[in-house]
Amino acid sequence: MSDDARYILAIDQGTTSSRAIVFDRSGAVVSVGQKEHRQILPRAGWVEHDASEIWNGVREVVGQALSRADITRHSIHAVGITNQRETTVVWDAKTGRPITNAIVWQDTRTQGIVERLAADGGLDRFREATGLPLSTYFSATKIAWILENVEGARERAERGELLFGTTDTWVLWNLTGGVRGGVHATDVTNASRTLLLDLRTLEWRPDILDAFGIPASMLPEVRSSSEVYGTAGPSSLLRETPIAGILGDQQAATFGQAAFDAGEAKNTYGTGNFLIVGTGTEPVMSGNGLLTTIAYKLGDGEPHYALEGSIAVTGSLVQWLRDNLGIISKAEEVESLALSVDDNGGAYFVPAFSGLFAPHWRPDARGALVGLTRFVNKGHIARAALESIAFQTREVLDAATADTGTRLEELKVDGGATGNDTLLQFQADVLGLPVVRPEVGETTALGAAYAAGLATGFWSDLDELRANWREGKRWEPTMEAAERDRLNRSWDKAVLRTLDWVDEDVK
Ligand code: ADP
Repeated sequence: MSDDARYILAIDQGTTSSRAIVFDRSGAVVSVGQKEHRQILPRAGWVEHDASEIWNGVREVVGQALSRADITRHSIHAVGITNQRETTVVWDAKTGRPITNAIVWQDTRTQGIVERLAADGGLDRFREATGLPLSTYFSATKIAWILENVEGARERAERGELLFGTTDTWVLWNLTGGVRGGVHATDVTNASRTLLLDLRTLEWRPDILDAFGIPASMLPEVRSSSEVYGTAGPSSLLRETPIAGILGDQQAATFGQAAFDAGEAKNTYGTGNFLIVGTGTEPVMSGNGLLTTIAYKLGDGEPHYALEGSIAVTGSLVQWLRDNLGIISKAEEVESLALSVDDNGGAYFVPAFSGLFAPHWRPDARGALVGLTRFVNKGHIARAALESIAFQTREVLDAATADTGTRLEELKVDGGATGNDTLLQFQADVLGLPVVRPEVGETTALGAAYAAGLATGFWSDLDELRANWREGKRWEPTMEAAERDRLNRSWDKAVLRTLDWVDEDVK
């Protein structure tokens, strides 16, 4: 790091692509590098990534971002990492090679492991310790699946030859030297999504590791979200630059929205939707289907907690309209198609493609398009798809209100689908709340940059970051209450139609 290091670089290792973004002190984007990686779908319900392809992509996008800003590593004060959460990589410590494809958060192959563990103590047997229900969503069942199904994996893991990490850990380990001394660590936010971390002590739980049959030697060290973990290795374009911030993507977006305190919230509209509501330094257990998660921990400071409403399918439903139905050719076209009709024509689309996540947690649900008549056309289907994003958000916001006892005054939003005005107006309408989008849309990467910049003195404190937040656009609710109630009631009925679909012999 040199004296003229004027920027922070954030690496955003996402579900569909990896990006590197250079930020200046005001939080403005200076340059972006981006590369998609393959979604490997070997069979229904399975979703994989090639972790080596991801690492190569990360190296490439770092190069793109530096060259597009016309700078070298000397201009980078520190690096922050944010990442798709839960996605599980297991690799050989000696060769640095993954032993199999990464199992992605959306993958539901581990339902059998969930059922096996739930037979003794139910789906909530680890909730008090971890804040999470047993679900295919979190890393623990995915690690167990690899140990049980990849030949020789269990023996190698027990001999201490294998390492586990979510993609933050995979990127950090490689960036800091890989087989030559790479740092094997994660931050508390990512660790809190494994189903293996004690939320209060911030340590791995030996009893839960035993229940899943996971050797502790595979696990990364749990560190805070904002501290120097190590420096980039000698073969990296970033060599000697400190890596100083890690936050899982949703926690990073919350941090990037400057929602640091209890009662502050954000909702991200990406592949899925993720509402996060801060609860301060106390974890709050949800009685309404939300997850309890760690929001951030700065260095030696106390951990901050949050409630989270995770919705599996939102923006990916728009991709499905594009790729599987072919009624649009680009995601953005969903808006004009939806505007070709006046309303949903009575159609409701519940995209329970991998069951329903929050607040229902029903793996037995499958998608349904209901309310169909001869009248319904592709415009109505596009409309119903967009509306499903807003209705699902209304459900998790209601759950958060019930858990915290306070209703938000407005909803801060971000993510790829927030370019859609029709969606956000409808969102304000079904919530009866203003919806606000910040000027800088890149909140996820910005959050990771903030964590790295705080650890290295680039930014001084949270107040300086709060001052960086600026409102971009606002949508006020305009719908009559009776209409809102009618729509929400129909949605609730549509959800009921999706439940109890999967039987032993009907997947
Ligand atoms: P992620 O970080 O999860 O990969 P992004 O925040 O980049 O996702 O958002 C991409 C998602 O947003 C895609 O699923 C895409 O279908 C959806 N999307 C993009 N533009 C629009 C739009 N104008 N209207 C609705 N959805 C959109």
